[in-house]
Amino acid sequence: MKTYRIACIPGDGIGKEVIPAGQEVLAALAAARGDFGFDFESFGWGGDWYRRHGAMMPADGLDALRNKDAILFGSAGDPDIPDHITLWGLRLKICQGFDQYANVRPTRILPGITTPLARCKPEDLDWVIVRENSEGEYAGVGGRAHQGHPLEVATDVSMMTRAGVERVQRFAFKLAQSRPRKKLTVITKSNAQRHAMVMWDEIAREVARDFPDVSWDKELVDAATARMVNRPASLDTIVATNLHADILSDLAAALAGSLGIAPTGNLDPERRYPSMFEPIHGSAFDIMGRGLANPIGTFWSCVMMLEYLGEDAAAAALMSAIESVTANPALHTGDLGGKAKTVDVTRAVIDCLAAGVNGNRRAA
Ligand code: NAD
Ligand code: MN
Repeated sequence: MKTYRIACIPGDGIGKEVIPAGQEVLAALAAARGDFGFDFESFGWGGDWYRRHGAMMPADGLDALRNKDAILFGSAGDPDIPDHITLWGLRLKICQGFDQYANVRPTRILPGITTPLARCKPEDLDWVIVRENSEGEYAGVGGRAHQGHPLEVATDVSMMTRAGVERVQRFAFKLAQSRPRKKLTVITKSNAQRHAMVMWDEIAREVARDFPDVSWDKELVDAATARMVNRPASLDTIVATNLHADILSDLAAALAGSLGIAPTGNLDPERRYPSMFEPIHGSAFDIMGRGLANPIGTFWSCVMMLEYLGEDAAAAALMSAIESVTANPALHTGDLGGKAKTVDVTRAVIDCLAAGVNGNRRAA
């Protein structure tokens, strides 16, 4: 029987609530199916670790993760520590250290969830956003000088390499090709940003030649926000830079009902390193420690992880359990206007998995 080695990094805030819930659901899924198992190892890195050690994770922390099959991550962000320290000291250290250059963010309106878009039918919104996850505006290139003087200067240089842009676009074209509509929208800002964004457009044209069955178009990022709101059905797979896709995917999550539902995978498509799966939300200081967090974003991230591990049947079983739970308004958490708690949603998904598997066995 295959046992998957999973590193769990709950991190901060509600990450400490939703990641244990994700582990429970995965363990229940494995128990119900009986054909694979999980060996979880948890790492207490994040703000608490920082208070004790002056760093978000140990200097050789990546070595402890290197041989895992995947990483399940909660959130990095602590009310008492500046956000750039928590982000760069943990999440980006893992993403960049393991060259997880493709950040994949599926967005759909799940059963029972209401979109704020009045005229949007659930089937009109079915997107996957691919975010360049290794360079661009978040390359960390730049600096400050003349600090404390009137001449003070600060730069964040957006750095785009041809190889970096090409690999993420190739990944996006391939993903678009695997989806029923075979449709890709390449988002840039090549009118105002006249160097790197023009190169993005050029590379898109070149890569597109290798995918003649994928229909693709271009959109400027500002216009893309309006298109997401006004013509959601005109989009399917989307590829954009690190910054642009960061913003667009939060918009996408809100249009699909809540930040608490949305999942993501930070992938190394070449599988040289473990990939990392996480809900897209942050630490949610306003609700942390109270058992109110919606764990669905984590559960959907577990679905993505299972797909990545090649456990497609288990992934589908978990996704349908999630959908039958979201369909019931009595199981909605506060972010969805409901009163359910993290444990209620977790219990319901686990019950559903057990019932579904038994149902399948009976049918067979
Ligand atoms: P946030 O996602 O933490 O919260 C935004 C709002 O959405 C809050 O009102 C919160 O209560 C709500 N919300 C988010 N997830 C929810 C869930 N699962 N269930 C119910 N409600 C939920 O974003 P923020 O407030 O901008 O950031 C808080 C901290 O998290 C900051 O330190 C930030 O840097 C960090 N952060 C980390 C990540 C990450 O690690 N990937 C992502 C975003 C923000
Ligand atoms: Mn973000």
